[in-house]
Amino acid sequence: MDFQLTERQRELIDLAGEHYRRSLKQLASDHTREGIARLRGKMAEAGLLGLNMPEEYGGAGLPLLDTLLVIQKLQSCASIVGALAHRSSTGAIGAILELGTPEQKSFFVGGVCRGEFGVSIGITEPEAGSAATAMKTAARRDGNDAVVLNGKKQFVSFVDHNSYTLTYCRFGSTGKPADIGAVIVPHDAPGFSHSQGGINMADERLFELFFDDCRVPAQNVLLDGNAFGRLISVYNAERLGSIARMLGSAQASFELAVAYAKERRQFGREIADFQGLQWMLADMKVKLEAAQLLTYRAASNAGHGLPSRSEVSIAKVYTAQAAREICDDALQIHGANGYMKEFPLAQRYAEVRGGSIYGGTIQIHKNMIAGDLLERSNNQWKRAEKAG
Ligand SMILES: Cc1cc2nc3c(=O)[nH]c(=O)nc-3n(C[C@H](O)[C@H](O)[C@H](O)COP(=O)(O)OP(=O)(O)OC[C@H]3O[C@@H](n4cnc5c(N)ncnc54)[C@H](O)[C@@H]3O)c2cc1C
Repeated sequence: MDFQLTERQRELIDLAGEHYRRSLKQLASDHTREGIARLRGKMAEAGLLGLNMPEEYGGAGLPLLDTLLVIQKLQSCASIVGALAHRSSTGAIGAILELGTPEQKSFFVGGVCRGEFGVSIGITEPEAGSAATAMKTAARRDGNDAVVLNGKKQFVSFVDHNSYTLTYCRFGSTGKPADIGAVIVPHDAPGFSHSQGGINMADERLFELFFDDCRVPAQNVLLDGNAFGRLISVYNAERLGSIARMLGSAQASFELAVAYAKERRQFGREIADFQGLQWMLADMKVKLEAAQLLTYRAASNAGHGLPSRSEVSIAKVYTAQAAREICDDALQIHGANGYMKEFPLAQRYAEVRGGSIYGGTIQIHKNMIAGDLLERSNNQWKRAEKAG
């Protein structure tokens, strides 16, 4: 067990920061479709997309821990840059790499690594949030050439900037998780449409997706059923990527708070002189390091593979709470400035706040941790089935 980052890992982090300062910073404030496409292109040139994707598809071939270190660094620079690094590495594309056909890997993983397009993930539905296996969106084969989807998803991220959504859907009608598979739906497929998107606390749009006899070529079927467990195993890497983003936002807030405490003067002295603030900063440092250790453990144990579900849940529960507290304390240390939109603290708080909800809420992750420690399945459906 080694708790030190290697020299190579430190270099990777520094290099990512250097790329950001030199070529990405000036592009990162343009969040239009064209602006994001330009940023993606620059990140592809710098080798910052597809961090853990194999080199044969144009990725950087990094192990999961190194991937997270780069995502965390880029997220600390600017959330949109962290988001693109995460989505092209630990995002939906991971499922295509793990579970796709050679043709799907070559086309989709290659395209994502080259910055040509992005892939969203559509799991959540109006009646299937935490209870994801209650999803109703249905796919049926239409001859050998096509599948036809009907249903609706909601709260899907980044749809306006991506060209495809990996859509979880049912291929059978048993109502059981065994029906669930996934289709890579092109956003220009006939019968596909999406809402304008609702704006969340962090100023990002979350979209409703509508599938009305949506016709998709059969070669875009990732798995036609019996796949929920495999999809969720890959999704654990996605969860770690978004935990790294929370770490990046918390780290940026912490660094801002330290700098501000040394610069802001009240009562004729730096506010860093006050022990009340020193203890806040010490607590923030402890939480940041503890959250990093749990996250890095889960990633390090995965190597180039998939992380353990229980280690991811533990990292997620702790980091979501720690990051929220770190960002909140950083805002407090900035006084009224921290509360103003001109300063980035409120934005950083909003970024990490979503982490307690997406990728499985912290309550759902605690259910899984408790299930493991009590050695019981902890199936949340049992009571409903009995009552029925
Ligand atoms: C910023 C953001 C981005 C997102 N991006 C995507 C995306 O790209 N694709 C996608 O498919 N979805 C996305 N989501 C949706 C997200 O996955 C869901 O919000 C999440 O699964 C929770 O579902 P819900 O909101 O319906 O809450 P609900 O499931 O209705 O839960 C409501 C509350 O009840 C609690 N609860 C529910 N069941 C239990 C239980 N058994 N035990 C204890 N507590 C329970 C929950 O913890 C929560 O506090 C995103 C959400 C956010 C906030």
